[in-house]
Amino acid sequence: MKQVAILGATGSIGASTLDVIARHPQRFRAAALSAHRDVPALVELCARFAPEVAVIADPALLDALAHALRERGLATLPMAGAGALDTIAADARFDTVVAAIVGAAGLASTLAAAAAGKRLLLANKEAVVMSGELLVRTARAHGATIIPLDSEHNAIFQCLPRDYARDADAAGITRLILTASGGPFRGWSRAELRNVSVAQACAHPRWKMGRKISVDSATLMNKGLEVIEAQRLFGIDPSRIEVLVHAQSVVHSLVEYADGSQLAQLGSPDMRTPIANALAWPQRIDAGVARLDLVEVARLEFEPPDPIAFPCLGLARAALSAGGCAPIVLNAANEVAVAGFLAGRIGFLDIERVIDHGLQHSVNEAADTLEAIIEVDRAARAAAVGMLQDWKA
Ligand code: NAD
Ligand code: MG
Repeated sequence: MKQVAILGATGSIGASTLDVIARHPQRFRAAALSAHRDVPALVELCARFAPEVAVIADPALLDALAHALRERGLATLPMAGAGALDTIAADARFDTVVAAIVGAAGLASTLAAAAAGKRLLLANKEAVVMSGELLVRTARAHGATIIPLDSEHNAIFQCLPRDYARDADAAGITRLILTASGGPFRGWSRAELRNVSVAQACAHPRWKMGRKISVDSATLMNKGLEVIEAQRLFGIDPSRIEVLVHAQSVVHSLVEYADGSQLAQLGSPDMRTPIANALAWPQRIDAGVARLDLVEVARLEFEPPDPIAFPCLGLARAALSAGGCAPIVLNAANEVAVAGFLAGRIGFLDIERVIDHGLQHSVNEAADTLEAIIEVDRAARAAAVGMLQDWKA
């Protein structure tokens, strides 16, 4: 029986993870759950899954959580605060940690799980982007197993040799090909993108996800973050990571080998497949996912991304080749810009301006401890917030 701690249990990935776990009560137990501020949603999950511990990240809500658990007669132990997330990530009672918090808020707990040698099911791509080599190095030093949940990286994970040791040449790998849906605005011009609404940006044609990643998919920054994530996780040169737009979202990514073979993972666009893969690996279990009908799909379509309409992918690549703390600045500026867009303060095309400005004004030294990363993130956020404060469209 695997004891699973789900950080970000009330989100989209959290819900899909709990769905898979509920299908296999003999194999997995949702033993610890966390949420940001939504006490009622967290308590509902506690009533359904009876975890040992529930963490509310906002420390002001500890009493509300404790009260609600007591009222429902639940024996779950309430905890609160960012530190409590790190505590449950490292708690030896839980062997598997699902890192499904969105954004930099998930960095410390993700690293804590790696340092505790856990099986780490990694959805929180921002943490990977920010942590440079630190996350992979920490996992290695403490015997943690990182299995990516991001559908593209999980597809690549499935297409790599079982003993892959982050050496592409030794494994005969020539390229990783990340597929991208292209988001809701695929094929749109700059002029058409100028006045898009928050609702349009969040209406992803293939995937139902949280609002932040939905906007990232619309700007293609999601794919930019994923290029960096792939470089970090698989230790491959960025020049060998290609992006192809594949709106059908059936081929989730590919690995190309020296002999010309391209291995792909295909399936219905449903996050329960990579989640079930990661939970049960190296075994295979039912994920509750609709079978892919290739006759219905009939043909597979691919096209190159449009770098003029969607410059965020290029900004992410530039940050990756600049190295040092540039990816941390990229991520921080993007998080602030996306929050500004979601709040109606800036337009869709302003997101790339905030990021570009952040990158141009970043000092490029290395940041390879948690404290240094948090400090770079804090400064980059402050700069981006300052830019939004006296924003002129
Ligand atoms: P979401 O917004 O639906 O859920 C986010 C979760 O994080 C919630 O449980 C929320 O309570 C928690 N949270 C938010 N802010 C927090 C904070 N400051 N402190 C503590 N907890 C906080 O997001 P999601 O779509 O589930 O995405 C989660 C992560 O997984 C993101 O990094 C995203 O990029 C990645 N991801 C998601 C999908 C998907 O299909 N949804 C696919 C691939 C990768
Ligand atoms: Mg993805």
